[in-house]
Amino acid sequence: MFVDSHCHLDRLDLTLHDGRLSAALDAARARGVHRFLSIATTLESASAMAEITRDHDDVLMSVGVHPLAEVPEAPSVEAIVECAERCGAVAIGETGLDFHYDSVPREVQRQRFIAHLQAARSLELPVVIHTRDAREETLALVREHTDPSVGGVLHCFTEDLDMAREAIRLGLYVSLAGIVTFASAKALRDVARQLPLDRLLIETDSPFLAPVPYRGQANEPQYVVEVAECIAEVRGITVDEVAMQTRANFYRLFAASVSDAAPNPFV
Ligand SMILES: [Zn+2]
Ligand SMILES: [Zn+2]
Repeated sequence: MFVDSHCHLDRLDLTLHDGRLSAALDAARARGVHRFLSIATTLESASAMAEITRDHDDVLMSVGVHPLAEVPEAPSVEAIVECAERCGAVAIGETGLDFHYDSVPREVQRQRFIAHLQAARSLELPVVIHTRDAREETLALVREHTDPSVGGVLHCFTEDLDMAREAIRLGLYVSLAGIVTFASAKALRDVARQLPLDRLLIETDSPFLAPVPYRGQANEPQYVVEVAECIAEVRGITVDEVAMQTRANFYRLFAASVSDAAPNPFV
């Protein structure tokens, strides 16, 4: 059984599913995906996401303002905390730093990231971190503001092995998405081969960046299976081992809140 540790269920292209989210989830469930962590990218969109979690026992959610989200004002620590509590979020984010696209000024991103890390710390919730071309600064802010006993995850990881190792040392997990299957991603597959299996998560980040052989099409949670298959192949282990270990890692990271928020078949 697989866990899609990062998807945006409010943004899926449901054309192939008669416009029904439940059909997209059923397609994933039929392939063995039994848990979804759906990520809100603005506080305004969190309420609608909370309705999705109420309708589907196997969907959990995270609350945050994406580093590149265009929002009128900076989210305060209090606003993030209030929204997360109201929605029953099991994590804070996604947040982080994306210096590849500078559409939101770097200083604004920094302030937002710090506010999320402080909210996560006060709620004792893990943090879901988006990081691109900002290795040192991301790690420095994690070092300063994150409680290693609560931790978090670097999601859709595309950076190098040194960064992954340092993140793990700081108490984080590393999550791989469909990019790892791309022909051009040999360096990332090397990272996937060398990371400790007990710190690895898998995700789709759907609707973005579908894995091979669906590259260029709309991504959806069922394709987390292709991510797991790719990791199994590069590591020379079975898909079952990848599924089992990444699932255990997911519950270790999010377990405290999961047992309250939704029925957990593993406790
Ligand atoms: Zn992201
Ligand atoms: Zn995302």
